[in-house]
Amino acid sequence: MSEKTEAFIISKEESGDSSYVVTFYSKLFGKINLFVKSARTSKKRFQGKLESGNLYDIEFIKAKKLGSLDSLIKIDINNDNRFINFDKDISIFQALILEAINKFEINEQPNFEIYEILKFFSLNINSHGKIKKIKIAIKTLNKYLKILGIQPSIKKCYKCKKNMHSIKYFDLKNGGSVCSKCKSNNNSSIFNLKNPINIKKLSNNYESLEILLLLISKFCEYHSGKIFNSVKYLRTT
Ligand SMILES: [Zn+2]
Repeated sequence: MSEKTEAFIISKEESGDSSYVVTFYSKLFGKINLFVKSARTSKKRFQGKLESGNLYDIEFIKAKKLGSLDSLIKIDINNDNRFINFDKDISIFQALILEAINKFEINEQPNFEIYEILKFFSLNINSHGKIKKIKIAIKTLNKYLKILGIQPSIKKCYKCKKNMHSIKYFDLKNGGSVCSKCKSNNNSSIFNLKNPINIKKLSNNYESLEILLLLISKFCEYHSGKIFNSVKYLRTT
């Protein structure tokens, strides 16, 4: 018997000469890996339909053998899909968000809110404004970290909750922005910014937003215990 669901592609890997293993984040089953047999030779069925970030209607069949992958048998663009106007920034932001979900999620643990986050990103990222795009990326990652229960503090010190004028220290381990008084002496997980982020100017300053996105990405790496390939494309301080 086959299963049907709506799903975003979050990654794909070549498998053998002509097949793929595609990782989806699906509405009904959460993260799933599906075998796509002969995807690179069977052009009619799959060509142009296996693009990361797109929303599809998929159909798959359960593996007969225990330990084998389920197989994709049908895939079509979903009516709600928004094709993204790719530019360099959007490609990097999308890669980062898909990688975060791929690295944090466990297979077959569906969460409708995570599915909605992927929709939020694809509906809002198409823009010509550099600042608008990076803000959507930051917002998407923050929403996701909130669902995971590990959203970092940004504008307040995570410890004393005081509003801060600038971010100088960012504690990857304990919860994000931290004031100089609360900063522990054990600095191993604390980023010390040479040029502190001015919070009042943050929303209109692309460079500061880039640094903030990098900090949040490093925070994701720290808490997942995994290195993110996409982080190396972000601006470094
Ligand atoms: Zn404090």
